[in-house]
Amino acid sequence: MTQTEYQSAVKQLKKYSYHYYVLDDPITTDEEYDILYHKVVAYEHEHPSEILSDSPTQRVGDQPQDKFDKAQHLSRMWSLEDLFNKEELDKWVERITKVYGDVKFYSEPKFDGASLNLIYDDGKLVQAITRGDGTQGEDVTQNAKTIQSIPLTIDYQERIEIRGEVVIFKEDFEKINEERLKNGENLFANPRNAAAGSLRQLDTRITASRRLVFMPYGIGANTLDIANLSERMEWVYALGFRNPHMTHICVSSDEIETFYHEMRIARDNFAMLLDGMVIKVDSIAVQDELGYTVKNPRWAAAYKFPAIEKLTTLKEVIYQVGRSGVVTPVAIVEPVSIEGVVVERSTLHNFDEIARKDIRIGDKVIILRSGDVIPKIVKVITSERDGNETVIDRPSLCPVCNSELLDEGALIKCQNLDCEARVVNSIIYFASKPCLNIDGLGERIVLALHEAGLVEELIDLFRLTLEQLLRLEGFKEKKSQNLLYAIQAAKGCECWRFINALGIEHIGEVASKTLCTAFGTAFDRAHREEILALDGFGGEMVESLLEFVRVNGAKINALREALEPIEPVKKIAVENPFKGKTVVVTGAMSVARDIIKGMMEELGAKVASSVSKKTDFVIFGEDAGSKYDKAVELGITLLTESEFRKMVGNN
Ligand code: NAD
Repeated sequence: MTQTEYQSAVKQLKKYSYHYYVLDDPITTDEEYDILYHKVVAYEHEHPSEILSDSPTQRVGDQPQDKFDKAQHLSRMWSLEDLFNKEELDKWVERITKVYGDVKFYSEPKFDGASLNLIYDDGKLVQAITRGDGTQGEDVTQNAKTIQSIPLTIDYQERIEIRGEVVIFKEDFEKINEERLKNGENLFANPRNAAAGSLRQLDTRITASRRLVFMPYGIGANTLDIANLSERMEWVYALGFRNPHMTHICVSSDEIETFYHEMRIARDNFAMLLDGMVIKVDSIAVQDELGYTVKNPRWAAAYKFPAIEKLTTLKEVIYQVGRSGVVTPVAIVEPVSIEGVVVERSTLHNFDEIARKDIRIGDKVIILRSGDVIPKIVKVITSERDGNETVIDRPSLCPVCNSELLDEGALIKCQNLDCEARVVNSIIYFASKPCLNIDGLGERIVLALHEAGLVEELIDLFRLTLEQLLRLEGFKEKKSQNLLYAIQAAKGCECWRFINALGIEHIGEVASKTLCTAFGTAFDRAHREEILALDGFGGEMVESLLEFVRVNGAKINALREALEPIEPVKKIAVENPFKGKTVVVTGAMSVARDIIKGMMEELGAKVASSVSKKTDFVIFGEDAGSKYDKAVELGITLLTESEFRKMVGNN
């Protein structure tokens, strides 16, 4: 890096920071920012005399905005030094243990939101201030008071600063953005910006409606006489603040590394976004001796998780026709690796969303892939446009069969029942895991069978012969036999798989199971009223089912004869407190939530997805969100996982 490059990098970082901290509307990903930032750090390390005083390495955050009154923190707020790998961690730990021997490190989640400093005096919340530039921030006291997890009073009379991160649950973030899409408002790029933007609303009512959550992580000015950070945090939780639960005291770099990997795995189970793990020296005396750089404590560091957001370019948009005829636009992007997976495409949902987000071909976009969720474009960097971007057209002809499309606004549909894409996709779906789970019937083979005229509709699968298959290119004896065996093996399937495999619009796996339990394989003879009475069945689902049965009666019969699905065995659960009760499971559990749900079903309980007056129990885990709050509001019995297990004698 030359001096000129260094100066322009500082300028660029300042621009990024302004959009990120002040406008809550970033124009690049954290990863891009971090890469440039580290180049600047390296340059400054080599040329200490050239360090610009306004370099982002010399300051915390950015200037507070003018729209709020400014307020002083009692003691300074800090940023954190970042660590990205074990080597950096080893060095960091060694720097401390070299001097202080066997210190302990308190490790906790790094929640991705906005910092907030709460000042309590005489047991009352007197002021809430954003981090700002670390010395002064914005006075957002009125907004903070709307956050349920911030106690307005605490059982402690001395003046004290409690610090933490204001976050938003991932599911609430999705809801807010859906709402903003509907209202034609700018979307938040990620939950962090949604939390920061919601906290810094001039209209307190908006903040109140956003369901923000405060996760404490430290103490500022205080007169406490507690020697270790871990004990101080226990004391804070006991005052009525939320407990992040996943904390651990580690004694070595290896132990920190092990805990870091555990947290990375648990990351998706948290209701809010985590962008890393924070490691802090536990002893307050040692913390005081280590002190601070201009920007960070020397006794703490952020061990970052791999980025889940990447910057890329939208190269083209292709159209996929699903089994119901809906045409879905799919973005093809410049390939990027996110958490070890190469992402090349991302769904664009529908055409209204493209229009609202004003996505154009050639745009620089931020793509997010978190856990198992399908990658999505969270933001278009409009400031990077050079005028060569092209608007995405709404297609009028089916890209597969060329027939005219029906434009219903948000959705565009191919109405041709014989459209190859519709037929092929319904066969692929029929054979997929949650349906008949037929091995070997993937897209390529289904297409080959269809193109050869061997499979025009589902029932044709059961009429295939070895001779027919052997005539196809690439089908040797073994492969053909295996396919025929796999199709035969679907016979005697569970009844719900048969229903699910039909691909009835609005009837998914859960609804198929409910239909199967209620009516068995003769589900198509059930009456409207009987179906409507089922848990989780609304009008739209019932009409879709009845219409499907009316149009496809003969096909259902033929498939039932070919498949011979088995009738469900009605298991009678032994007497237990959950039998016949409606239960909701929410938050992170010691095992996958589906396992807990399966246990509940075996106990004869109905597992519902939302909390209502009809709910009998809510079993909650770490970071339970809105469902927990709703249960409290409705006075529904709340149980932790271990309480539930104790009640049924399963520890
Ligand atoms: P940071 O977010 O890396 O770390 C410090 C902050 O972490 C603290 O202020 C606190 O709010 C938070 N935190 C969460 N859990 C914590 C815990 N358990 N203990 C202590 N603190 C905890 O630092 P920063 O200075 O706010 O921001 C720097 C980062 O922000 C960069 O690494 C970059 O990724 C991102 N950034 C991005 C852009 C962009 O344009 N995308 C611009 C500027 C900064």
